[in-house]
Parts: sequence; structure tokens; C-alpha cells
Amino acid sequence: MKRINVSKPVVEISGDEMANVIWHRIKEQLILPFLNIDIINFDLSVQNRDATDDKITIDAAHEIKKVGVGIKCATITPDDKRVAEFQLKRKYPSPNGTIRNILQGTIFREPLICKNIPKIVPHWNKPVIIARHAFGDIYKARDLRVEKGSIVNIEVIEITGKKEKKEVHKFNSDGIALGMLNEDQSIRNFARSCFLYALDKEISLFLSTKNTILQNYDERFKEIFEEEFNCNFKNKFQEKGIFYQHKLIDDMVACLMKWNGGYIWACKNYDGDVISDLVAQGYGSLGLMTSILKTPDGKIVETEAAHGTVTSHFRQHQLGKETSTNPIASIFAWTQGLWHRGKMDKNTDLMDFCKNLEKSCIMTVENGYMTKDLALMVGPNQKWLTTNQLLNKIKNEIKAY
Ligand code: NAP
Ligand code: MG
Repeated sequence: MKRINVSKPVVEISGDEMANVIWHRIKEQLILPFLNIDIINFDLSVQNRDATDDKITIDAAHEIKKVGVGIKCATITPDDKRVAEFQLKRKYPSPNGTIRNILQGTIFREPLICKNIPKIVPHWNKPVIIARHAFGDIYKARDLRVEKGSIVNIEVIEITGKKEKKEVHKFNSDGIALGMLNEDQSIRNFARSCFLYALDKEISLFLSTKNTILQNYDERFKEIFEEEFNCNFKNKFQEKGIFYQHKLIDDMVACLMKWNGGYIWACKNYDGDVISDLVAQGYGSLGLMTSILKTPDGKIVETEAAHGTVTSHFRQHQLGKETSTNPIASIFAWTQGLWHRGKMDKNTDLMDFCKNLEKSCIMTVENGYMTKDLALMVGPNQKWLTTNQLLNKIKNEIKAY
């Protein structure tokens, strides 16, 4: 078989536990046999982050910035238990957070749909892609407990020194207060990432806010999206026959339930946190949820599976047992990252290979071969395969293309 030449490199980030075990099997069986490619590996296992004092994470992010494509395996974000388990020097922050802060992109989560896998919401037969604005709001807030009789004010000191104070509330009992913020530039970058991704995917985009209540705060999100759309994207959207619309958050959640999918939903930070989990559950398994981070200029992507390191399966693996861990979202991390490489380099062979591998995964499942997480959703009579057996089936399918 002739291998496809890929002229520019990609960054590969290997990770932890079961996700890392299947990660390397995917690379050996489904990627390397088909491509001539330079893969720059960064080992972000928790042990190596500890050994490098987390410098490896920062180096990886900068390399992704340089190369344009990062393909990431799931990694452990250590809590106290993990610090003890691995005898870590400290509780390192989430690698995803570190990388996202350096790349400054937006994360899009997209469920994969297989016809024979039942969904909790049965009529969701097209994906709903959730874009979360991962900056500010309650995640950068000052939150306080306040004593009875206190007054809470907000004071703005302008660069000229001019001060303006506004009373928020005089407390009749003990209570709580919150001061939160966002920045135009971050919202604008979010808007651009979303519009670009909608064009890439050729599907319409919605933004949800509560601008009827927060007439300055949420209204600003709506304004910026409108400005960006009208100045930079309106014509391109018309050419593709797609549209952009703002909706109130309550209206949007009602539509989510009513509609059958096929759009991108741009969410404010907290809404995205909550709704991405709701949507993931509605579609079924974490093993079918993909995730892609895209920068506002559309030039850099980082792809991964939305699930974690699947620790429960790794414990079985450590006992020498075969597991039935779903590799499909991890395979899509590879294909989506490599597809972007192909698009940037105008390498249509590579782009076709990625689409064929994706089709092979879906076809394999739709032909009745799947891991246990999906089989449980189908019903008690559905047979399931181990990860290795499934990877072999997918490999046979791709060879047929
Ligand atoms: P998880 O690894 O996503 O696993 C949660 C459960 O979901 C698993 O126990 C398994 O259920 C099921 N599951 C997830 N992925 C699956 C797959 N591919 N195939 C089959 N079943 C799958 O989440 P977690 O257990 O909360 O977290 C484990 C570690 O991952 C933590 O250390 C966390 O920090 C890390 N994490 C990393 C990322 C990331 O790097 N992006 C994201 C989330 C969590 P059953 O046990 O019922 O089979
Ligand atoms: Mg959440």
C-alpha cells in the first residue's frame, strides 16, 4: 500500500492511563501504516509533568502554536488523591487549561452519531456542537459573604483617575455578593472562532444570552457577535446558505429539546460548562464525544477526545485484563487534527484519508461491532468487542476504502 506524504509535522501529546494505552495502539495501527509523517511527541503523563515541573506542558503549547496542529490524549488533572498516588511535588493545574491559555482558542464539542446507537433524546439525529466561551464571568469573579447591614458597591476607577461608585445592595440580613467581568477582546475572539467554525462545518450558528436581564453585560456579547458577523462573515454565510442568530438562553434550551440538531451553539462560560455535559449525556456515550480547540484566526487547532483517562478501565488493564474501552473519540482526535494539517497544506489525499478513517469508525459500529459502553445502550442482546478487536475491525474497514 502506498503511504500518503505529509510535508509538515504535527504535535502529538501523549497522556495517562487507559486513554494513553489505546492512544498508542491507534497510532501504531491506524495512523503510522498509512502516512509518512513527522510527529513531534510531548509526553504529558503526570509523571513527566512532575519531572519537568510542568514545563513540558508549556513547551507543548508553544510547539502547537508553531506547527499549527496539536493532537492530544487525555491527561490526569491531579487532585489530592493523585498527588499522593504519584507522590507529586505539587498539584499541577489542568494541562488543558494551561494549553488553552497559551493558544487562546475556543473549544467545540461535537457528538458522533451512529444510526444504531439509541440516544436519550431519540430525535437528536444530527449533532449539536457546543462552543464554550472559556474566559471570565463566574470563573474570574470575586465572590463574597456579606454581613447584615453592610452595603456593597461597585467602584470603577478610570485610567484618568475619574471614579464612579454604584450601590449594588444594602443588606437586610447576612448574604452573599459577586463581582464578575469579561473583556471585549476575548468575546470578539470567541465570536470569530465560532463564525469560522460554522463556515468550516457549513452549519448555522446561534448565540444565547440573557440580555433582557443583563442589558449591559449580556447585551455586549450580542453586540460584538453582530458587529463581527455584519463586518466579516455575513456574505460568506450567505454563500454557504447558513445563518447566524441570537436567542435568549431559555428560548434556546427549549429549541434544543424540540429540534433535531445540526447547528453550533455558542454559549457563555457557565452555560457552556453545564450544557456541554447535558448534551453529551443526551447523545449517549462519552466515548463518542469529540473536542476541538480552534484559535480566532482559524490557523491553529488542538484536538482531543472529550473523555478523561478512563481510570476504572486502567485498573483492569493493570491486572492484565483486556478492556472494552471505546477508542472512537480518540481516533477522531487524530483525524480532526490531521484533517486540519491537510487543509492548511492543501493535501487532499490526507484530508480524504481522515474522512475515510472517520467513516470506517462509524460504519464499523453501524455494522454491529462496538465496545461495551455502546452495546449497553443498544440492549442486552448486543455483543461487544474488546478495544483491540474493534481496532482490527476498523483497520479492515479502512483498507477497504
Ligand atoms: P473519564 O475518564 O471520562 O471516565 C468516566 C467514566 O466514563 C469511565 O469510568 C467509564 O465508565 C466512562 N468512559 C469514559 N470514556 C470512556 C471510553 N472511551 N470508553 C468507555 N467508557 C468510557 O472521567 P473520570 O473517571 O472522571 O476521570 C479520570 C481521569 O481523567 C481524572 O484523573 C481526570 O483528571 C482526567 N480527565 C481528563 C480529561 C482530559 O484530559 N481532557 C477530561 C476529563 C477527565 P465505566 O467505568 O462505567 O465503564
Ligand atoms: Mg461541566
